Amino acid sequence: MSSSGSQPSIFSRIIAREIPATIVAETEHIIAFLDIAPKAPVHVVVTTKDPQYQNVVELAAGNSALLAELVAVAEQIAAERTNGQFRLVFNTGAAAGQTVFHVHAHVMGSPELTDHLG
Ligand code: IMP
Repeated sequence: MSSSGSQPSIFSRIIAREIPATIVAETEHIIAFLDIAPKAPVHVVVTTKDPQYQNVVELAAGNSALLAELVAVAEQIAAERTNGQFRLVFNTGAAAGQTVFHVHAHVMGSPELTDHLG
């Protein structure tokens, strides 16, 4: 679903508390919640409350400070929930697997002392 269309993205509906999610971190500009279909033992979505940027390239060009804030929240989540080694993934474009066009990062890792995420 595109944030530029008439419908709010699924993430905007989570931010508005219109649909439930397990929120694990929130700041003035950023919110993070458990991914509904986790692909790693720890899988958290970190997104901007502002829906205007569809992907990380747009966010970097339009508001680099907000991107830095998003990454800082992601790092904090990883520090709390993983062994300190994690993937920070921004799928960018439908062909790359992006399904929600409201910029977000996936924090993926494991709380265990594994040397890879599988
Ligand atoms: P993308 O494929 O990179 O755009 O990532 C979108 C992510 O959002 C996927 O990993 C989905 O599992 C996740 N997702 C979609 N709907 C929800 C929801 O309602 N709650 C939590 N995560 C969701």
